[in-house]
Amino acid sequence: MIIKENVQIKIDERLCKRCGICSEFCPQNVFSVRNDGIPQVTAPENCTSCHLCDWRCPDFAITLEVIS
Ligand code: SF4
Ligand code: SF4
Repeated sequence: MIIKENVQIKIDERLCKRCGICSEFCPQNVFSVRNDGIPQVTAPENCTSCHLCDWRCPDFAITLEVIS
């Protein structure tokens, strides 16, 4: 059985350089990109907490918190 964890994803807009890596690599399409290039979390219910986004973000702008 796969139990999805409850996750909270935060993006620090002051640190984000709008490279698009997080939205490109997220396998679950959790992000969409605003007109100004900043990613937004628009489908958090799809997140599997794989950490591809926060581990790959070059500017440490993403915080992934798993809530138990
Ligand atoms: S990977 Fe990090 S710096 Fe790049 S768009 Fe996403 S949050 Fe911003
Ligand atoms: S942890 Fe994985 S599934 Fe969740 S938003 Fe990041 S890349 Fe997408």
